[in-house]
Amino acid sequence: MGKVIAVANQKGGVGKTTTAVNLASSVAAQGKHVLIVDLDPQGNTTSGFGVTKRSVETSVYQLLTGEAPASAGIQHTKYRVDLIASNIQLSGAGLELVNMQRRESRLREALTPVLNQYDFIFIDCPPSLDLLTLNGLCACDTVLVPIQCEFFALEGLSELMNTIRNVKKIYNPYIEIEGVLLTMYDGRLNLTLQVVQEVKKYFGNKVYKTTIPRNVRLSEAPSFGAPINYYDGASKGAEAYAYLAAEFIKNNKKGGA
Ligand code: ADP
Ligand code: MG
Repeated sequence: MGKVIAVANQKGGVGKTTTAVNLASSVAAQGKHVLIVDLDPQGNTTSGFGVTKRSVETSVYQLLTGEAPASAGIQHTKYRVDLIASNIQLSGAGLELVNMQRRESRLREALTPVLNQYDFIFIDCPPSLDLLTLNGLCACDTVLVPIQCEFFALEGLSELMNTIRNVKKIYNPYIEIEGVLLTMYDGRLNLTLQVVQEVKKYFGNKVYKTTIPRNVRLSEAPSFGAPINYYDGASKGAEAYAYLAAEFIKNNKKGGA
């Protein structure tokens, strides 16, 4: 049974999508079967894998509404990772779901039949704590939280942790933190080091040893529609995500994944 990991933080611009795309691709490059689900209406994960949003016929939207099964939404990308894409319809899904039954567990129900085809399923969540993110949290086994090394890094994290606690109480008793990832890391800056200290105080050994440096190649790759290990495998960014993939896989060996 594949393990489902939601990449979540309601703050925008902290590196969720960059991490979901490049960790998924780097884990796949290390021989695992990987599916990525783009749960953000902006569809940056979709375009990050070279898929044109306008061309998407069956997106995660149809899975949430029950119009199509997950198997119909799965696309093989050029990069060893399978994708369930987002498209613009998804931006209205939050409102539409409100009146549906089991509105928070629709993604989980949709993904269940395909879990055994994969080792890992990553979900890229939108920058909010709305019904879409709630579907991501209810569908996952664990949550990976990227944190940008900046002044207000910890702001809003208690809200995220509260939401995860509530999800655990009400919908998903087995949910756990997969890991906390420091992104846009610059070890020369005092500010970065302060943020790292704070984050470690809060999350202890959940913080990944691997950190992701600020690297311009990581920000260029999406416009070429390719994950970093294909766009520039020799870059610092590619190296960092390869290390993260190895750390992630090692952490999951204990659980037998
Ligand atoms: P989120 O999904 O949390 O909103 P993104 O992954 O889209 O965040 O990142 C926000 C912006 O920062 C994007 O333009 C992305 O290319 C850039 N970015 C993310 N991580 C890095 C990094 N390590 N180095 C340089 N730019 C980055
Ligand atoms: Mg994003």
